Amino acid sequence: MFKKKGILICVISLVVLLSTGLIFFIYTCCLPRFYVKNFNGVVSKVYSDELDIKNVCYGNIFKCRNINPEINGEYEADKVGTYDVEYVFKYKNHTYTKTGILNVVDNEGPVLTKSEEDIEVCPNNGKILKGGVTAIDSYDGDLTDKIVFYYDKETNKLHTSVSDFSSNKTEYSFDVVASDTEPPVITLNGDSSVSLTNGSNYGDQGASAIDNCDGGVEVSVQNPVDTKKDGTYSVVYTAKDSSGNVSEVKRTVKVYTPQPASVSYTCNKVGYSCKGSGKVIYLTFDDGPSGYTAELLDVLKKYGVKATFFVTGNGSDVSIKREYDEGHTVALHTYSHNYSSVYASVDAYFYDLQRISDRVERITGQKSYIVRFPGGSSNTVSRSTKCIMSTLARELENRGYVYYDWNISSGDAGATTDTNQVYNNVVRNLGSGRYVVLQHDSKGYSVKAVERIIQYGLNNGYTFERLSKDSMVCHHATAN
Ligand SMILES: [Zn+2]
Repeated sequence: MFKKKGILICVISLVVLLSTGLIFFIYTCCLPRFYVKNFNGVVSKVYSDELDIKNVCYGNIFKCRNINPEINGEYEADKVGTYDVEYVFKYKNHTYTKTGILNVVDNEGPVLTKSEEDIEVCPNNGKILKGGVTAIDSYDGDLTDKIVFYYDKETNKLHTSVSDFSSNKTEYSFDVVASDTEPPVITLNGDSSVSLTNGSNYGDQGASAIDNCDGGVEVSVQNPVDTKKDGTYSVVYTAKDSSGNVSEVKRTVKVYTPQPASVSYTCNKVGYSCKGSGKVIYLTFDDGPSGYTAELLDVLKKYGVKATFFVTGNGSDVSIKREYDEGHTVALHTYSHNYSSVYASVDAYFYDLQRISDRVERITGQKSYIVRFPGGSSNTVSRSTKCIMSTLARELENRGYVYYDWNISSGDAGATTDTNQVYNNVVRNLGSGRYVVLQHDSKGYSVKAVERIIQYGLNNGYTFERLSKDSMVCHHATAN
């Protein structure tokens, strides 16, 4: 009896155990639910692609359907970065939520593209002379200036590599042409022509040379100047680059013995002539460039007015270059503007004129043949040097120059330092003729009057012109 009862308990226990196991198995494996695979809360998304997460599914272990989440939280799908978000997985009326991080990433490297024309490089170091390579990244944009180049002489290839800001690297090798036909450019220190009196010392100022491939290269100098012997000498500077291209520049050095002043002087004075018709104003500015020249050029540019600058050895090359580039006439005043040395003799005058001529030619690439005497041709400061002004006036003409005085003085050289007065001095003298107006761009108060003078001129039917060799004759009467 007891034996039968024991068997029955065993069987019942077994059945209960098996049923419990079966229920547990059905509950854990077969009932539908969310299954999370390897979702650790960090999801990467390429900035331009759709997000696709395959690691949460809904179903049972036999059949589980992938669920794409909705994303709660703020993030910019087209901006690389790390964003805190909440992933919401929904299936029918079941919802499963998980907080995590969304990484928006760029995993696409830049694209390297060669120019249409062939790439030409320096044979010695692979510096690009023509053509080139660009790098465009779909996310970071133009990365051309981040390209790293390496030129392999053996294979004649230019190796390029570039990485974007997400460290995606692209490399490519391009075939190139190695060729350098450009010689170095030699720049003289000091003027390209120099005049010296016999017996003085000549210290050559030298030159420097820059090559397109080699950078700075050595300049060799041949200096035949004998300062004890009158004559015109050429100091020759040569420079050679590593491809064998040679350039040569010369400096002319004139050694002369000054003639006694009385010999060349003729005292036929030149008379006054400074008239014309047509309502034309020639604005002229002496003694610059100076710190006010840029401001003046801005005003002229604003009104499209061209003017004439009688420049000196003062001020910056940049100002003279700008005067020239913006269409004004760059004319010659003197280099030193020192009356006693300029008017000491005919040679002294032309020596100084040559210096300013050289400066202008060096900066603009053009010789200027338009001249104004310091103090005008009627100046009397040179009175003690017999007949020099009339001789200089003729000699300028002999040498192909044209000189201009003025028929309206703004008074800015001493009569006034008042901008209104400068303006009045100019406009009250305007009539129906042609007017060469004297101002100084070395004087700030005078420069300040220019805008109003231009406005007055334009409102009253004048045209503004720059001086050329044949604008008009405008000479004062020489005093000696
Ligand atoms: Zn002057």
